[in-house]
Amino acid sequence: SSSAISYYRTRREEEETLQFEPRPIELRSDEVLSGVTGLIGNTPLIRINSLSNALGVEIYGKAEFLNPGGSVKDRVALRMIEDAEAQGLLRPHTGSRIFEGTVGSTGISIATIARARGYDATIIMPDDVAQEKVKALLALGAEVERVRPASIVDKKQYVNLAKERAISFGKLLPSSKPHLLPTPSSSVVVSTISDETVDQDVESEIPDYRPYKPRGFFADQFENRSNHDAHFEGTGPEIWRQVNGHLHAFVSGAGTGGTIAGIGRFVKSKNEAVQVVLADPEGSGLYNKVKYGVMFDYKESEGKKRRHQVDTVVEGIGINRITNNIDLALPIIDEAYRITDAEAVSMSRYLVKHDGLFLGSSSACNLVASVKLAQKMGWKEGQVIVTILCDSGTRHYSKFWNDEYLQNVGIPNDITIIEELLAQI
Ligand code: PMP
Repeated sequence: SSSAISYYRTRREEEETLQFEPRPIELRSDEVLSGVTGLIGNTPLIRINSLSNALGVEIYGKAEFLNPGGSVKDRVALRMIEDAEAQGLLRPHTGSRIFEGTVGSTGISIATIARARGYDATIIMPDDVAQEKVKALLALGAEVERVRPASIVDKKQYVNLAKERAISFGKLLPSSKPHLLPTPSSSVVVSTISDETVDQDVESEIPDYRPYKPRGFFADQFENRSNHDAHFEGTGPEIWRQVNGHLHAFVSGAGTGGTIAGIGRFVKSKNEAVQVVLADPEGSGLYNKVKYGVMFDYKESEGKKRRHQVDTVVEGIGINRITNNIDLALPIIDEAYRITDAEAVSMSRYLVKHDGLFLGSSSACNLVASVKLAQKMGWKEGQVIVTILCDSGTRHYSKFWNDEYLQNVGIPNDITIIEELLAQI
């Protein structure tokens, strides 16, 4: 089958012609994708052969590291930007800038999609995250601001700073030179552009076109429901199709909570009996919240300073506050496992040795929890567990995949931890 897909003109072409019409080209839309965002989603599900063979239970991983930005976060970044565009909060090629506070993956996804759609990006992150994420962001042309790790109640905390920067962005720009854009054909967009964006002089010179002031947009992955929706409407249905409705458990860590909320709620909507299981790293409060109903960080009890992002070599999952997306997830989480750094490290080395799979730290945590679940439930054969392979090991060379670093911080790098766990059946 063949159908038309559309290409939009480059910014220069658009400005030269002042037209906003798609240029249709006849291509096989099932084989040719439109730009880098066409590569997002529709990831394969892979059988983790070593673990499945050892346990008898089928353990599958959704290969999210194959997304063009290298992680599951591409889906979320795309959805947040699309929803903002639909609400008239952002328009391509208007000099608008997307702001986000993130430990890395979401920043890389936002920077990638921003470039593809004609935005700039400012990413604010704690200064202790792995170096390669910063390098990737800079290579993608994003502005990077690194701040001291701080509590969420601190104004200088990276998420709070991202919001503040987005709010003040508009004010910093000279309002006398708005970008010109043709009136879009969609009335939805027109109606949501507020009058303050219209410069009367310019409008009277070029009657058909409406000026559009550059905007600052705070993506806000922790609280933004588009995060959940990307998974509820995308990843969840993909998984359900791929396992043909044969699913006993879905296992996931939570950083913002979007993945476990969106996929968890979707699979529950299909079959309430599917177990939704949280994989929580050391230092995160979510495990206790699920098990005992209270957020309790053991490090806090030892007198250590409470941090928004937890203190572990596992990056991207674990949190000590209830975000909107975590709040959506809590009612549907059936079980939680606390995974140690040593277990996650061991799993990652085990998977390279037996499967040739080179994965990041949160993927490793998810797979440790999957094994623990299979063992606790006494599952032997015919059961299907699906989890997320969030990103690849290439994002983690400086910490999780750095043996010297692990030795310095006292985390054992011992493959026998997982070998012994698997032998317990
Ligand atoms: N793994 C990695 C590598 C991540 O960056 C994130 C996002 N912070 C997650 C897992 C967790 O996903 P979510 O934010 O949807 O809970």
